Amino acid sequence: MANIKAVRGTRDLLPTETALWNHVEATARAVFARYGFGEIRTPVFEVTELFARGVGEDTDIVSKEMYTWDDRGRAESDRGQSLTLRPENTAGVVRAYIEHKMAESGMLEKLFYIGPQFRRERPQRGRYRQFWQIGAEVLGPPWSGSDSPLRDAEVLEMLATLLNELGIKGWRLALNSVGSAEDRKRYSAALREALQPVKTKLSEDNQRRADTNPLRVLDSKDPGDQAIINNLPKISEFWGEDSRAHFEQVKAALDACGVPYVEDHRLVRGLDYYTRTTFEFTVSDGSGLGTQNALLGGGRYDGLSEMLGGPKAPGIGFAIGEDRLILTLQAQAKEAEQKKLDAFVAPMGVPQNPAALKLAQELRAAGFEIEVGDGSFRLKKSFEAADKLARKMIIVGEDEVASGQFTVKDFAKGEQAKIPREELAGALKS
Ligand code: AMP
Repeated sequence: MANIKAVRGTRDLLPTETALWNHVEATARAVFARYGFGEIRTPVFEVTELFARGVGEDTDIVSKEMYTWDDRGRAESDRGQSLTLRPENTAGVVRAYIEHKMAESGMLEKLFYIGPQFRRERPQRGRYRQFWQIGAEVLGPPWSGSDSPLRDAEVLEMLATLLNELGIKGWRLALNSVGSAEDRKRYSAALREALQPVKTKLSEDNQRRADTNPLRVLDSKDPGDQAIINNLPKISEFWGEDSRAHFEQVKAALDACGVPYVEDHRLVRGLDYYTRTTFEFTVSDGSGLGTQNALLGGGRYDGLSEMLGGPKAPGIGFAIGEDRLILTLQAQAKEAEQKKLDAFVAPMGVPQNPAALKLAQELRAAGFEIEVGDGSFRLKKSFEAADKLARKMIIVGEDEVASGQFTVKDFAKGEQAKIPREELAGALKS
């Protein structure tokens, strides 16, 4: 009988990995606490309608990716109810906000969550069917200050702090404003018009979007579409005075806090309730995720609560892909470990010290990163130091100095060879 395996796109996290997951989650909890966030845990499944309304019927998530079933409830009232494994957590948090009448306090709510989400996606590195998100929402009635640009900057500064505390290197924050609902309406109309004459040159998916949801054309990764997209009008040309002022204030606060960002006018979201600030953090490193796979994304919204039957409660939220965060940390740790000096020059006795230093001088002048040992070290100590610090070890003994042939040990390959002085540079490059 064939063995039963984990379903495609899901995986086990074993103790060798969970230590890092727990470290990431503990760091996130500690950082969020410093910014006044409290934890919320919502159910892993909800009624399907919540996502249809809250995420949007015409998104890929709702139209193709949800795990949905008709419940076989015992009670008549449950039977046939359509339920769905949550594909994201914002809708659940806002439902809970409404259900528990959190608006009545009149205060700003700062809620974070950590948990699995489910989407029927084509699995690949960094893309799974069960994946984890660490996210947060800041929302409340307008008089609680929930629509202030200060909140946007605070959330972004908190994320920069979290990534820095985790030791993520080389992150990049892309920032944009999608304006108000009215700004976007005018922008969509302008995009639709600009796309008409060039529509037939677009990829098939984008031809359809050009009519149904022209903003989503900007998301296209299709190389053939890029030249057309780069010539389209920009959302910033359609910002009203309020949207412009909001964006300027977000940027001023980020500048004051020293959080670096780049403006990316193509960063938009197709849903109607997204307003103003949108953002994405990416990392360019050897994690193999590719630049299309953001580490985290988020944005400001207004109208989501009303869409779910609640009071007006503007807010801003984000979701970090925890799987991708972990992959990035692992890749960067490996990279750091692998970054060793080119060679360790080891004199075999004190009389060889000058010759060793001279050889190091030549190799450093040629651009290599070199450490020199000391002739008073015992051979074992030289080997240990060399193995720790460098990819190769060059032995400088009496014979080597006399013959001009140096013994070079390659630690990764476990090989040793005699190499003439003039060929050492070539050997260190390999
Ligand atoms: P989204 O809810 O689509 O805005 O995604 C927020 C973040 O969750 C993304 O930036 C990714 O890091 C992560 N994410 C989304 N979908 C997946 C998936 N299928 N597998 C792993 N991470 C994902």
